[in-house]
Amino acid sequence: MTEVDAIKILQNLNSIPLLAKKLTKQKDTPLTAYLEKEAEAIGIAIDALEAQVPKKLEIWNGQYQCPACESQFGNKDDVDDMANAKKPYCHFCGQALDWGGVK
Ligand SMILES: [Zn+2]
Repeated sequence: MTEVDAIKILQNLNSIPLLAKKLTKQKDTPLTAYLEKEAEAIGIAIDALEAQVPKKLEIWNGQYQCPACESQFGNKDDVDDMANAKKPYCHFCGQALDWGGVK
């Protein structure tokens, strides 16, 4: 199973506590509080898995930047000058990076 497959399953799973909360039609009960916590935990797991799926770098104003946190890594010449600059993860947020197409 890939991270993308797991994300899809967790996203489907995340609809269950939200649906259950809606069906109870009650507010501020121990059950609705638990369901909100459960949905939050699943959301955190989805975010962590999404960070493990490499995303292509974005180019903004001539600068390569992280697709998740938008931190900038420098322009093409900067990246070319630093042979080891193409790190597999953003050192600011941990997002896995896809350097495909960046020479
Ligand atoms: Zn980042």
